[in-house]
Amino acid sequence: MAEHFLRSGIGRLVLLLVLVAVAPALLLMTHLAIVARAENLRAVGERQQQAAMASVRLFEELLDSVKLAMRAGAADASRWSAPPAECVAGAARMAESHPFIRRVAVVGGDGLVRCTSAGLAPGISLADRAYVRRALATGEVVLGSPVVSRLTAEVVLPVALAIPDEDGRAPDKPALITAVLDLDWMVRQVAGSEAGSEHARFAVLVSDNGLVVAEYPQPPGHAEERSRRLVDTVLSAPLGWAELPGPEGRDGIVGFAHMLSVGLALAVGIDGAAVLRPLDRQMAVTLILTVLTAAFGIAAAMAVARRMIGRPVLALADAAGAVAAGVSPRPLPTVPWYGEFEILKQAFMRMTTEISRRQTALEVTNCELEAANRLLIDLAERDSLTGLANRRAFDAALDAAWKRGLREAMPVGLLIIDLDHFKQFNDLYGHLEGDACLTRLAKCLIGLPLRPYDLAARLGGEEFAVLLPDADLPGAVAVGERIRAALHDMMLLHEGSPLGFVTASIGAASMVPLGPAEPRVLLAAADRALYAAKAAGRDRVSAEGWAVAA
Ligand code: GH3
Ligand code: MG
Ligand code: MG
Repeated sequence: MAEHFLRSGIGRLVLLLVLVAVAPALLLMTHLAIVARAENLRAVGERQQQAAMASVRLFEELLDSVKLAMRAGAADASRWSAPPAECVAGAARMAESHPFIRRVAVVGGDGLVRCTSAGLAPGISLADRAYVRRALATGEVVLGSPVVSRLTAEVVLPVALAIPDEDGRAPDKPALITAVLDLDWMVRQVAGSEAGSEHARFAVLVSDNGLVVAEYPQPPGHAEERSRRLVDTVLSAPLGWAELPGPEGRDGIVGFAHMLSVGLALAVGIDGAAVLRPLDRQMAVTLILTVLTAAFGIAAAMAVARRMIGRPVLALADAAGAVAAGVSPRPLPTVPWYGEFEILKQAFMRMTTEISRRQTALEVTNCELEAANRLLIDLAERDSLTGLANRRAFDAALDAAWKRGLREAMPVGLLIIDLDHFKQFNDLYGHLEGDACLTRLAKCLIGLPLRPYDLAARLGGEEFAVLLPDADLPGAVAVGERIRAALHDMMLLHEGSPLGFVTASIGAASMVPLGPAEPRVLLAAADRALYAAKAAGRDRVSAEGWAVAA
């Protein structure tokens, strides 16, 4: 029934309407779910941006520590005497006591390296380095630009500070200490410092000139593509956040902030998958709930429509079909007949009541018509006085018997009966008595043991006929004699008759029809026989011999 309703025209129409009604809600809910996800993502991104700013502050604190350490180292170096052994020991001590310093070198006033904790060989000239010249000129701690180390091919950040010279510098005394910062250590500190972070973190230090200076954790294999996107993003704004792949190549959410004073930018990120998964799950749950709600709504709407539209329509169609087929319709189901359907049902019931009323009236009329027809036929074929067949019915029966005789080569017998001295009877007893006498003769004829297809008729006045199909002349004469005898037996008083009671003369004839001759010839023959009987003295049967009518 439900599938049938879905396939039906109304079912499809209702489904279409429901879908049209539900579609905007579905789109709106989908849009809201996407917006909610984007909002949540933005909140995470802004938190990450805050984390980047906090990391920058931490990094700057580390740089402050670097400056303090450099100043302490420079003060210490001002007391060193020339021998290289003390220089080497001092540099090594300084490098060892500060984890953010990778190596220390002491440079003379001529720009040549005097001694170093590791790496650089004494005698190398740093005189061309801008940060060296600036440090000697300003007496301040000067951070160099990140450069690719000629020694180790790694990106390094040099720092330099002039050694104070209270008593005038001897040419061979150290003039400047320079250190290479362990940026990886510093970035690791920054990455590991953010307390309460539930997701994996990573940090990347980028220089203004587009170099990835340090990175924690170290990316596996080649990460140029990721680095390029990260560097482009970080350099695009002084502060911000973005969705970028992390070191593992997985989705990450990165916040970044610039340290304008040192020409560096710090990007700190969290594992995006861990953050995005709950957001995606939340969005999926919202979408699934929306779709389920819509599906439930559609199913409920279809069920209601099937009950309130489909079933009433089908019930009415069923009932209308029954009325059309002429059978009485089943009672209409007790579904809720809602609104216009109730009006339609009432109209339908009024229509069926009216149809059945008219049908009953029509049946009654038909019965009456049939009775009237029967009466008319009776009136048209019966003699009103005697109840015998009249002349019209006799003519039709004679015609039919003649045709049958022609078809089957059988004789047709005929008697014409005329009461004797009947005018006198009327004169003696009156016309009403005459009618009564005619009626008695009719009853006598009806009472004869005739065959079913024999027919007694009143031809008019006091003249009667008996049609005897399949009767030859002797047979017809025999029937005539029986009639005459029956009249004798009745003994109807007639003082004007020679015998004192009513008698009749009977003319008999019989013919086998062989050609197109009309039955009139048979009538004429019987008529002639009747006159012969009258002429011969009445109260007798005369026959006009056996004949074949051609
Ligand atoms: P016949 O012996 O030669 O036949 O003499 P008849 O007097 O019978 O002569 P005919 O047959 O010519 O007479 C017919 C009479 O029958 C005339 C009429 O008075 C009477 N008659 C004809 N029709 C009716 C009828 O319907 N009712 C009555 N009461 N008499 C009729
Ligand atoms: Mg007559
Ligand atoms: Mg007569």
